[in-house]
Amino acid sequence: MLAALLYGQEDLRLETVEDPTPEAGEVVVRVGVATTCGTDLKVWRRGGHARMLKPPTLFGHEAAGEIVAIGQDITTWKVGDRVVANNSAPCLSCFFCKKEEYSLCQNLLFNNGTFAEYLRIPAPIVQHNLLPLPDGLPYALASMTEPLACVLHGVARSNVKPGDRVVVLGDGAIGLMFVAALASGQGEWHSSQVPKGEQPFSQVFLFGGSEQRLQLGEKLGAAKTFHYRQIEDVPALVRELTDGWGADVVIEATGIPSAWELAIACARPGATVNLFGGCPRETSITVNTERLHYSELTLKGVFHNTPTYVRAALNLLASRALPFELLISQQQPLTELGQVFEAMKQRQVVKVAIVP
Ligand SMILES: [Zn+2]
Ligand SMILES: [Zn+2]
Repeated sequence: MLAALLYGQEDLRLETVEDPTPEAGEVVVRVGVATTCGTDLKVWRRGGHARMLKPPTLFGHEAAGEIVAIGQDITTWKVGDRVVANNSAPCLSCFFCKKEEYSLCQNLLFNNGTFAEYLRIPAPIVQHNLLPLPDGLPYALASMTEPLACVLHGVARSNVKPGDRVVVLGDGAIGLMFVAALASGQGEWHSSQVPKGEQPFSQVFLFGGSEQRLQLGEKLGAAKTFHYRQIEDVPALVRELTDGWGADVVIEATGIPSAWELAIACARPGATVNLFGGCPRETSITVNTERLHYSELTLKGVFHNTPTYVRAALNLLASRALPFELLISQQQPLTELGQVFEAMKQRQVVKVAIVP
């Protein structure tokens, strides 16, 4: 089969490799659509990832498709089933899993290789994070289950309350998904407090660097959007927008240390700051101790997703309650993957649906 392999920094090659065959407990999926992701761009530019992969390796982690082969001991799936597989599964037996902190699982198994004709799904993912697609849900939409699961996990851990004023820093696919989930209250799928009527769940202010993406942010429910390069003092503007206090909740979705510091600076006393974008290795930030203490800030890192949010994400996509299809800028064949990554680097596209 044709597959993309990552060899190192900006070194992605299309090669012919052997078709995968399923071992016991595994299935093989013919990839219908694999979506590109900001994490892919980051990993491609950095030439690796601390947790997810080590080159040379098959590449890509978001996909939906159809089961074409099943291994021994598979009884609940059959050839022809339309499915989406999360890119990871927790072990459910380690110290953290026993505490239900699944994103901290010490044996979190990552699966890569969606930019290919076929994708092997390891047994733990088949067991815990392989889901059937509802009829009529297109592969391109279903393929976004993984990133949306991360976002719903992030929203649920951000202490958002109805009517809150939330700042989102970053207009990539993740930042835009945060806008959609927060403005609609859909991310609070477990909460009964979603206000009825016209009022959005939270008032979201989106800061980004691309006019086109900021417009998408408005379509997805942002109350106001701002091009950060045109603003001299972002925290001062946020205070202006919030009666002088600062944001109730700040979501950082860029993975840049200076943006982490900016996120903290936008927060009101008592706020929760969700530092969601993973930064380059060995980087650090400075936090003012007085502000952290006397303003009672909650600074939290939120990483990845858990099986609960994988299911919630697929349900939300299937409900068609929010226009997530807007995040897919174009569809391209696998053979164009190199050009697609160049276009991502130039920030010309948000997500691209790769069709093998
Ligand atoms: Zn992703
Ligand atoms: Zn575990």
